Amino acid sequence: MSLVVMKFGGTSVEDQTAIDRTASIVAGRVAMGKSPVVIVSAMAKVTDQLLRAASAACLGDRTGALAISSRLRSRHRDTAAALLKNQKEAVALITWIDQKFDQLDEVLRGLAAILELTPRLSDLIVSYGERLSSRMIAAAFCERGINAEHVDSREIVITDSQFQRAIPLDAVIEKRANESVRPLINQGKVPVMGGFIGSNEAGITTTLGRGGSDFTGALIGGALAAEAIEIWTDVDGIMTSDPRVCPDALRVKVISFEEAAELAYFGAKVLHPATILPAVKKNIPVLVLNSRNPSNEGTRIISLAPHCSSPFKSIAVKKKLSIIDVVASRMLMTHGYLKAIFAIFDRHQCPVDMVSTSEVSVSLTVDSNDKLPAIAADLSKLADVKYEGKKALVCLVGEDIRGQNGMAAQVFTAVRHITVRMISQGASEINMSFMIEEDDADEAVRSLHAAFFQNPDPAIFDVEARKQIPVTSGQ
Ligand code: ADP
Ligand code: ASP
Ligand code: MG
Repeated sequence: MSLVVMKFGGTSVEDQTAIDRTASIVAGRVAMGKSPVVIVSAMAKVTDQLLRAASAACLGDRTGALAISSRLRSRHRDTAAALLKNQKEAVALITWIDQKFDQLDEVLRGLAAILELTPRLSDLIVSYGERLSSRMIAAAFCERGINAEHVDSREIVITDSQFQRAIPLDAVIEKRANESVRPLINQGKVPVMGGFIGSNEAGITTTLGRGGSDFTGALIGGALAAEAIEIWTDVDGIMTSDPRVCPDALRVKVISFEEAAELAYFGAKVLHPATILPAVKKNIPVLVLNSRNPSNEGTRIISLAPHCSSPFKSIAVKKKLSIIDVVASRMLMTHGYLKAIFAIFDRHQCPVDMVSTSEVSVSLTVDSNDKLPAIAADLSKLADVKYEGKKALVCLVGEDIRGQNGMAAQVFTAVRHITVRMISQGASEINMSFMIEEDDADEAVRSLHAAFFQNPDPAIFDVEARKQIPVTSGQ
């Protein structure tokens, strides 16, 4: 039996047409003799809207929050009605959808009364997206002849209690998946689960962080030792840069786990940064595929990528960053100083992306967040502090830069017209990254792309498609 995990992102399940397409792709895999386990995201933009409803309620705007919920209710009801021709099934599904929205409205009303949005409550609210989509899609699959069965991910994906970015408990997930999901597959069923959501051991709903459905796919693939993990999205695979920024980006045919992980970590939204690890642990290939163009072979992520004559595989950019400069008034770069600085970031649970030091100053970059004033206040007890937002980190990734001389010169020549604030090379042997103003980021990516992907290696990049990259409507 060749078990394959197929994860479909928001745009792949955004409406009836997209769900129909997804059903044909899954039916195609079944016809090939594969046993799919399907993981779905919430319908496109639903997660953002649920978060917006939560913030409105938390600000006391009860009417605004309920209006968002009401629009989401109509969208789900309409999609369910369009998907299911069997009246009895349609009525049952729509009744169930109404019950879920009645529950959600109760939560929003409560929130508008107490005016405090805890991470735990935020996870509960946002979980409705995947809970709704997965049940609706399972019903649609059944009507289309797929022997689908809905599985509540919260029974399988058990995590710790760090709401909004919960850490999965791998051993428990493996046990639950093998006890509850594998028997369904053995009976010839196609389990359909929501991505992104889980629960802690007490059964309280958690989430794996934004974009976390990819992570669910990889976790379930790892737990069930799948033959492959397929990430179905709205582009042809991992591209040489975000095609929304660089329309002439090329599909990367094959890339290593290490390169893909680095790209995801440094902002390539096509994969959630934690996705790769469960696959690496079991050496399961990950494929990134386009649900709008399913015959395309996509990108294959494998342990050892073949040699490539181009130094870089792709350019990622991470925006909405802040740079913090800590300048000691005296020569304070003594033993324990950096530790004191990092202890402050640790206390505020704020991860640091990049660091550079001189004798008296330390510059750090972090995701812009509302803890920055408090962090700066704590740091100012040690030294002078300034921080500035609207920065971006550009990151070039490729195994073939290992040991190559002159690469930095080529990179900075390509962006010589742009002011560079911080540089990092060597933290990993396969990436070069630098920090610039956010407004310069797209231009920097395009200049680098033009410089490094003029003569791409046809063994690694889809040069044929250079003129035919699909233009997607986006999420
Ligand atoms: P999904 O809803 O399927 O999870 P996402 O929107 O999370 O899809 O990720 C797909 C998007 O990632 C693409 O539409 C593209 O704009 C963006 N992206 C950013 N960097 C890259 C890259 N290097 N290759 C492909 N897509 C990228
Ligand atoms: N729906 C969630 C999000 O938008 C998870 C996902 O789609 O991966 O972040
Ligand atoms: Mg995603």
